Amino acid sequence: MPIRQLSETTIDRIAAGEVVERPASVAKELVENALDAGATRIEIVTAGGGKTLMRVSDDGSGIPADELPLAVRRHCTSKLPDEDIALVGTLGFRGEALPSIGSVAHLTLTSRRAGAGEAASITVANGRVGAVKPAALSKGTTVEVRDLFQAVPARLKFLKTDRAEGSAISEMVKRIAVAMPQVRFEIAGEDRTPTILPAASPIERIGAIVGEAFAADSIELDAEREGVRLGGFAGLPTFSRGNALHQFVTVNGRPVRDKMVLSALRAAYGDAMPRDRCPVAVLFLELDPALVDVNVHPAKADVRFRDPGLVRGLLIGAIRQALAREGLKASRTAAG
Ligand code: ADP
Ligand code: MG
Repeated sequence: MPIRQLSETTIDRIAAGEVVERPASVAKELVENALDAGATRIEIVTAGGGKTLMRVSDDGSGIPADELPLAVRRHCTSKLPDEDIALVGTLGFRGEALPSIGSVAHLTLTSRRAGAGEAASITVANGRVGAVKPAALSKGTTVEVRDLFQAVPARLKFLKTDRAEGSAISEMVKRIAVAMPQVRFEIAGEDRTPTILPAASPIERIGAIVGEAFAADSIELDAEREGVRLGGFAGLPTFSRGNALHQFVTVNGRPVRDKMVLSALRAAYGDAMPRDRCPVAVLFLELDPALVDVNVHPAKADVRFRDPGLVRGLLIGAIRQALAREGLKASRTAAG
């Protein structure tokens, strides 16, 4: 067969596969956009495990009507004013989420900028961008995604049951929400009772997501080494789980699943926990954006630390010290 250039639609769908793998990835992108817009309330409504419908509404800054076409165009972002990806301080920056979702679903973006006379909306139907139209919305932004992957049957086939996809959406939102206690989240699905996470203190939010038992049976972490800060909570060695699902890690507010961090977490407990058990922990790492690369993968669950040894040493040292302090306190109480 001769070599030929792929059509824009096909190129977009291939690229979309990198960002939107399943409904939970759509939820992640839309919630991150809401947070980047400074939202204090985010509502997620789904039907059919997010395949039939996903609607994310926020009370954030909104988008000016004349910028709506740019918002759904590939590689357009308001988040890199000086093109320096090393210093990105927002969760998004690639300008890929909305166009990607729009290329494999029916997307309606409705927004109202504070002070704007009225709201406006734009639709993208499997890659076809419509015109900007006046719409009704009192504040912020609402993104409605319908019939995800209907035009990409190969993708649809790989999705799990509505129930499983719905749970993955909740899981994803909770991983983000654990680090954003000041924001109110509401997750509602047709087949489940809504989860409401009111604005709360960090430990209240952790209790609501990881469990009240963990909140009561964990020690606060607060350590710093050469500009890398570790906050969060680590469970006592007696509080363990059979899998690593109960380990929440954020780097500069971004939920990640980093092998090095998780292995350092396990190493910190050493023999204090049976080999086949996993510690429960919520770890918040904060460091200079120049010292960590979040640009590894479009879905951005991976990060690369400039100095992984430093981060590993900080984690192990801080958790061991915290556990030792707690052990000392416990033995003093027992003796006294
Ligand atoms: P990115 O987040 O990487 O910039 P997106 O495709 O997710 O790319 O969004 C494109 C642009 O649309 C954003 O840069 C932002 O300006 C705007 N945008 C998207 N969602 C929202 C929202 N919920 N509130 C305000 N602006 C938004
Ligand atoms: Mg985004």
